[in-house]
Amino acid sequence: MILDELPLELMREVLLDLSTVDIIQTVKCTRRLYHFAKADRALGRRLRNRIFNFCLRLGKNKVFADCGEPILCLYLDASFREKRGAMTRWRISSFIFWFEGGCKCGYGRTPKIEPGLLDHPSFLYDRHLLGAFDTGSRLIINNGSLDDAIINCAKLFNILMKFCVVRRLELVLYNSGDHKWDKMNAFFNANPPDLRIQPYVSIDSAINLDDFLTGSIFSNGKSRDFL
Ligand SMILES: [Zn+2]
Repeated sequence: MILDELPLELMREVLLDLSTVDIIQTVKCTRRLYHFAKADRALGRRLRNRIFNFCLRLGKNKVFADCGEPILCLYLDASFREKRGAMTRWRISSFIFWFEGGCKCGYGRTPKIEPGLLDHPSFLYDRHLLGAFDTGSRLIINNGSLDDAIINCAKLFNILMKFCVVRRLELVLYNSGDHKWDKMNAFFNANPPDLRIQPYVSIDSAINLDDFLTGSIFSNGKSRDFL
């Protein structure tokens, strides 16, 4: 690839003139560029809150202790690695996709995002997500049906794939009774995410791995049983 041939100092000047999304798309192309950009001060600043590990959790239906109702959500976690001297710590932001039914009293003060914002990715990222990532806050996206929640979660997933460098992606599937993954996978097959890493899948051993490894995302994935 031609980018690999250029001296890094020249690449640095070229990259700094690009929009942040274009920097992301460019540094994803080669490992050499990615590591250079991360270590460079000015480029590193542009990449702040844009490099993370990603975990999608489906089918984890806890019961809220106070009211005894199940909490019905999909969870998408973004973990950012931070170096403080010799120490490494993780800053985690969670997206909680509510859908109808179940308990809604457990997250009283958690900020909420209108699902319509998912159709305005740049605005959503700059005005809401960067701030949440900075402080490691959670955000609730309130959806109508489970189907809406699945589509909206997959939309956000695609936005993050475009606006960020995803270092690792993990899918944790607790049960497949309501076919959450099947529905999301259908969306991804129609709108393939920009995935350049080998993803991980963790599933309940009662689930047949072949059921979802045929999809476009996890076709080159690794798996492990957690039960
Ligand atoms: Zn409740």
